[in-house]
Amino acid sequence: MSFDLSSRLAERRAAHLYRQRPRLTSPQDVQVTVDGQQLLAFCSNDYLGLANHPEVAEAMVEGVRRWGVGGGASHLVIGHSEAHHQLEDALAELTGRPRALLMSSGYMANIGAITALVGQGDTVLQDRLNHASLLDAGLLSGARFSRYLHNDADSLNKRLAKAVGNTLVVTDGVFSMDGDLAELPAICAQARARGAWVMVDDAHGFGCLGEQGGGVVEHYGLSVDDVPVLVGTLGKAFGTAGAFIAGSEELIETLIQFARPYIYTTSQPPAVAWATLKSLQLLREEGWRREHLARLIARFREGASALGLQLMDSATPIQPLLIGNSERAMQLSAALRERGILVTAIRPPTVPQGTARLRVTLSAAHSGEDIDRLLGALQQALSSLPEISA
Ligand code: PMP
Repeated sequence: MSFDLSSRLAERRAAHLYRQRPRLTSPQDVQVTVDGQQLLAFCSNDYLGLANHPEVAEAMVEGVRRWGVGGGASHLVIGHSEAHHQLEDALAELTGRPRALLMSSGYMANIGAITALVGQGDTVLQDRLNHASLLDAGLLSGARFSRYLHNDADSLNKRLAKAVGNTLVVTDGVFSMDGDLAELPAICAQARARGAWVMVDDAHGFGCLGEQGGGVVEHYGLSVDDVPVLVGTLGKAFGTAGAFIAGSEELIETLIQFARPYIYTTSQPPAVAWATLKSLQLLREEGWRREHLARLIARFREGASALGLQLMDSATPIQPLLIGNSERAMQLSAALRERGILVTAIRPPTVPQGTARLRVTLSAAHSGEDIDRLLGALQQALSSLPEISA
């Protein structure tokens, strides 16, 4: 007996699902160099264009001078610096929650929060389009785990009626592959009526939604009672790395005691926390970034629908073009690349079967002309591949 890895890889290749990593030789920005080719990129999550902001970069350098390059230990041992602490206070203020807890990544924040809050004898209910880290956390928790239809209050309600023990309803704030918002007012009202808690992973909403960039909870004006567990990531609109969980004093103390991915991992480098404090300030104060982004989104949607492309119901910087067939999505991505444009094709199992798409993401660092270049290249790519436009 041996592990037959080559057949597994060959199957994946044959199904046009083989994943590859573009190798950047430039900083990640809207203009990137991949394998020596300069490309205009529409696939980063750097929604506000802060990943290369000189003041954020300078803060990182200053952080390195003050704290060195590594966290050195877990938070509970000796890895919790003044930089981490100040960032937690600033994140609590941004989210309007009493406390926030820094985590090393969004994936770990989701695993940590869910496994610390529910276990055997409890229930976790999740939107079927939730991010993989939430679904994995649900399985790992040992709680009864059920997925409700996407954004469907009736489907959620049926499951809430059968729930046992402590019940956690979990949803993305902005769905990462579709770009639409969770219907949080309805979801929160139902959960509260049944004594369940709501957890929102707003990885893609922070910085983009809300007057001050406070994300989906600011957008809908939801309190800590509506959404007791709020997760955000720092590697997207904040432009840095890491994540946080925000909520009540008791929630954060519970996570410090029981969230294993918090307890047993090295803290993020303090310099990253220091840089994030700067990007948080820019994210809040520079409202023009959100306004510019909104104009780019409108320009792209108008142009794409004029080309007959299938947009999704999204008003966020995530603007997927639904293609359906995985091979076609790959062909279209390659045809764009020949024209100097980088857009990633997203295929199953990341998205449901038959819904392969080009995941276009827009950034405040793009210009109106960049959008026009993308639209022009899409038009040419479509006519070079007639079976796609059919
Ligand atoms: N949640 C969502 C909705 C995400 O899209 C992602 C990452 N793309 C994560 C969590 C994981 O965050 P991180 O990259 O910080 O691990």
